Amino acid sequence: MQNRRRFLKNSLLAITGTGMARDSFASATSKLVSTDEGKKFVYRTLGKSNIKLPVVSMGTGNCDNPNLVREALDMGVKLLATHEFYQQGNNEKMVGEVIKDRPRDSVLVLTGTGKGLEIDFKNGRFGPGTNTDVFVESVNGSLERLQMDHVDILNVPFAGSREAVFFEPVLKTMEMIKKQGKARFIGIASHNIEHEAIRAAADTGVYDMVTIAYNFLKTNQQEMDEAMQYAADKGLGIIGMKTMAGVYWDKEKKQPINTRAALKWVLQNENIHTTIPDCSTFSELHQDLDIMRDMVLTEEELMDLNPPAVEATSGLFCQQCNRCLSQCHEYIDIPTIMRGYMYAYGYRNLRLARQTMDKADLVHLYCKDCGECQVKCTMGFNVRGRILDIARIQDIPEDILHFS
Ligand code: SF4
Ligand code: SF4
Repeated sequence: MQNRRRFLKNSLLAITGTGMARDSFASATSKLVSTDEGKKFVYRTLGKSNIKLPVVSMGTGNCDNPNLVREALDMGVKLLATHEFYQQGNNEKMVGEVIKDRPRDSVLVLTGTGKGLEIDFKNGRFGPGTNTDVFVESVNGSLERLQMDHVDILNVPFAGSREAVFFEPVLKTMEMIKKQGKARFIGIASHNIEHEAIRAAADTGVYDMVTIAYNFLKTNQQEMDEAMQYAADKGLGIIGMKTMAGVYWDKEKKQPINTRAALKWVLQNENIHTTIPDCSTFSELHQDLDIMRDMVLTEEELMDLNPPAVEATSGLFCQQCNRCLSQCHEYIDIPTIMRGYMYAYGYRNLRLARQTMDKADLVHLYCKDCGECQVKCTMGFNVRGRILDIARIQDIPEDILHFS
């Protein structure tokens, strides 16, 4: 049943029939803004910022090889997306080292921090314990690690509701940071209830950008497409993340997702101005960039995005829809744990998985003693099994995960 439903969702008919920006996938390439013939890169404009950049940028979160970042920039990548959270600041340091000898205007840097924010992951809100002084200090720390006096885009992470986006202490602080010149543009990043967060960001009149989880497995595509159109009409830049939908269908990694098709699928929506797929190898980088040579999503590629086998239909990508929360009598933060699961088994990024698990605050492993799990996940995940699997990561000593 689920297999059939996905098939229909991904069919050619479905993708051409939305009536939104993805209205003509066969002619998507010809409708794109411009092409640098030398590099054969396709550019779009990041909202009213008027920044033109390739539709494929680089997420550095899973990368600790400066030569890979150098190669990306040499090949024509313009935007690097890092975060204070990645490798506990070391990712920003690496990015800073790579770009310090290049002209500042030759590269755009996106970063963000959640330090100082009291994030209620379950409800997508920021709490009264938020300390904006700590937040500002963390932004200063990012600038120091990046060896620059300003970043191009600064994101507030985990804005998962209208309330979070409009949360005044953070909104005012972000405005102040922009006025001080520490960030040229400011935005929010959202993993869940994205459509609400996107519209809210556009309504603030303050935020310039949104960075959102967007891929072919999202079940709220229509709402997201409509919200993106709304935000694009108001001039916001829209950046797509989690574009590879977990990279694998299965935790054993026997069934890889056709990531080329997955990224192409995202790029059919012209309201996605650029994407930041995580990139940790030279072959991933070259494949990502090569997509711009021919962005037309073939019917064969589209078909390839259907689950390969009945037993693997769930995939690793958690929608972050939060529907599981109220079903668990212990009110465990299942969405955050499932994100950690995807980072570990899909992205093979154990450090990020562990950091994410720490945020889930899974002090007691209730699932061990629970009889039958009552949670019916939207994606059909075996929630109890996955929690017991990934919880083992909490026993790995930090020095083995190279936290220092
Ligand atoms: S675990 Fe399932 S129900 Fe819970 S947020 Fe993820 S996709 Fe939704
Ligand atoms: S097995 Fe775990 S997730 Fe499922 S209901 Fe019990 S405590 Fe909640």
